[in-house]
Amino acid sequence: MSKSKRGKALWTLPSRGRGTCPVCRSTRIKLLYTRKSGSEQVLKVCKRCFHASQEKIDAVAGALGV
Ligand SMILES: [Zn+2]
Repeated sequence: MSKSKRGKALWTLPSRGRGTCPVCRSTRIKLLYTRKSGSEQVLKVCKRCFHASQEKIDAVAGALGV
């Protein structure tokens, strides 16, 4: 089993798996984790925000206008 969040695997992803985390606003961070809001919206978040509370995810999803 290869590591999907490290090394060459990242090169196949859009922007090589990097972007701005919608939760903590970190730029050029690796967005390899997804969290679902209460309204079923899927957010791509960084490693740190993967462990954020559901309330925080919902708040961000709401702020994004869904
Ligand atoms: Zn984050």
